[in-house]
Parts: sequence; structure tokens; C-alpha cells
Amino acid sequence: MRKAEKESAAWRDPAIGYAHAAMESLLTQRMLPTPENYRIWYLYHARTHAALRADIEARLAAGEALDEAAMAALHARHLAEPPSAEAPRAEALGEVASQLELSLGAAIQLLEGAEAGATRYGTRLADFSQALQGSPAKLGAALSRILADTEELCRQSRAVAQHLAERARETEALRAALAQANEAAMTDALTGLPNRRAFGLALAAALAEPGPLSVALLDIDHFKRINDSQGHPAGDAVLRGLAQCLSDWLRETDHAARIGGEEFAVLLPRVRAAEAAGLADQLRRAVAAERFLTADGRGRFSVSISVGVAEHVRGEAAESLMGRADAALYEAKRAGRDRVMQAAPATAAIRAA
Ligand code: GH3
Ligand code: MG
Ligand code: MG
Repeated sequence: MRKAEKESAAWRDPAIGYAHAAMESLLTQRMLPTPENYRIWYLYHARTHAALRADIEARLAAGEALDEAAMAALHARHLAEPPSAEAPRAEALGEVASQLELSLGAAIQLLEGAEAGATRYGTRLADFSQALQGSPAKLGAALSRILADTEELCRQSRAVAQHLAERARETEALRAALAQANEAAMTDALTGLPNRRAFGLALAAALAEPGPLSVALLDIDHFKRINDSQGHPAGDAVLRGLAQCLSDWLRETDHAARIGGEEFAVLLPRVRAAEAAGLADQLRRAVAAERFLTADGRGRFSVSISVGVAEHVRGEAAESLMGRADAALYEAKRAGRDRVMQAAPATAAIRAA
């Protein structure tokens, strides 16, 4: 192997490969890129923890979903510290950065090598100027040494520049992979809407803002019957169709999410309960007007939704707000479905909480 090839192989730090593979796994498993999840996949690909790797492979072979509970169990069993529930996203970036540091170390070594080469070059130049005053034979030898050194120095500079450019591309690719993994972990695969996890974060952010806030919880009526009579794929089409209705109906400031099988939630910032109920009723009518294709493709059918609406009371916890909206949704079901119900006002106890 030529010297240049040897050096270039040494730069390709395996850490970069593991980091990419870890990102790929997070993405295919639609997993949130928390430091814990990233670490588990990184170690899995780096093959440093045989028991952890065997455990993951056994779970995958058994067709087990690697959900949050499974990842927490893997973490607890194989990696000492327990996972933190709310790891800030920035930490995941920090993990990627620390992997990159390893390979940047290689770049720095290379730069130092180039610097040593430049010093040697300077010494040769001094020798050369001395030889200018000496014999022609000495001059010839000094000249060929200086030419060889010039060539070496140019090669090293090019190599350093190329290496740094490669590292920059790797960093960019990892950052993009991280953003993609984050996105996938926050998105419902069937409808493309934000998922329950994303909704929880949006709700927490909305609660931190001043001003009114309402939530609407909606659930498709007798969806099981639709699945039973039309088949699961037709049921899926209804879910996608409902997501489309929701997206068409949303205003720019609202957030909608699929938070369960046939359950959706909407955040309506700066909207009071009565207005929220009116808006939700528009959506209910739009859904009822929609026609879905039957399984045989010949007929059409419609679906209805029930909605529970609740307005946030100052100081109320997210769980309480969602609980009241859910109780209103239950009331809508009990009262005959295909309707919108407003939640009972928060009790004094909630207000005081
Ligand atoms: P209700 O009016 O009381 O809400 O009745 P329901 O039949 O809609 O409620 P139930 O909770 O009994 O059934 C919900 C059904 O939703 C059962 C489940 O198979 C179906 N479901 C959940 N997720 C999906 C999905 O992703 N695709 C399809 N096609 N069906 C789903
Ligand atoms: Mg339901
Ligand atoms: Mg339902």
C-alpha cells in the first residue's frame, strides 16, 4: 500500500461508520434520537457490548417492537445509568459531535504532520542557499532534495484539505440524519400527521404561552364496524382521509395529531371553548360529507366523528385538560355520537392546583 493510501485509510475513523449506522437504525425503527437510544444503537453497531447486541438481535428475531419500554429495558439491563425521560434534543446532537471529535483528532494529527513537513522544508531551503555557494555537484543534490520536498509538501497540503472537506461532509450528513430521525420519531407513519409524542410537546409549549387555549379530542364513531365490514386497508384509507379533512380545516396556528388508533387531537391556541366547539362542529360536518370507497371499489360510505372540547383554565395541568376533553368526548359518544360536546368547567380543585 502506498503511503498516501495508508494515511487516507487511517483517516476514515470507524466511529463515523457506527454513527451513521446508529442514525440509520433510529430512522428505520422510527425512534426518537435521544442520547440513550443513540448510544444503544451506536454500541450495537460498534459491537463493543456482546450481551446488548445479542439481546437486541433476539428481540428483532422475535419480531418484538423496540418501543420506548423495550429501549428503557435494554438500557437498564446493559448500560448502568437509567435513561432520563425528557432528554433534551440538544444532547443528542452533543453525542454526534463527540463521535466526530474522534475523527477531527485524526485531522489535527495530519495538520501537525504537515507542519513538521513545512519545518523540514525550511531547513532544506537553508541547506540549499548554503549549497549555492558550494560546488555544482552539491548544488545538484540539494536541488533534487528541494524538489522532492516541495512535492511532498504539496501532497500533504492537498491531503489535509481533502480530509477536512470529507469531515465537513460527514458532519453535515450526520446532522441531516439526526434531523430526519427526529422528524420520523415525531410523525405518524400512516397519516403523516404529528404523533402523540409530538402532540405532548406542542401542548406543553402551548401551555407555556399566555392567552386562552382549547383542545379538541376526536374519535371516529364505530370504527371497528368499518374495519369489520370494509376491511383493514379501507379503514386505513378512512384514517388518511380524516387526516386530510383535519389538515384542510386547520388554521395556521392550530396543531393536529393522531394520538391513538382512531383518535386525533387538536390544539387551538387563542380560542375559547365556545368558539372551539363551533370550529369542531365545522370539522364534524366536513368529515360527515366525505365519501369513502368501499372495499370492492363500487360503492361509497361515510363516517362520523365525536368530539370533546375543553378550554384550559389558568394553572391547570396538561393531564387535567386532556382528561376533561376526554370526558366530554365520552359524553358525546354516550349522547349518540356524531356530535361535539364541551367539557364541564374545571372544578375549584383544578383551579387551585
Ligand atoms: P366508538 O364509536 O365507541 O369509538 O367505537 P369504535 O368501534 O370506533 O371504537 P373501538 O375502540 O371499539 O374500536 C376502535 C377500532 O380502531 C379498533 C381497531 O381495530 C381500530 N384501529 C386502531 N388503529 C387502526 C389502524 O391503524 N388502522 C385501522 N384500519 N384500524 C385501526
Ligand atoms: Mg377510540
Ligand atoms: Mg371510535
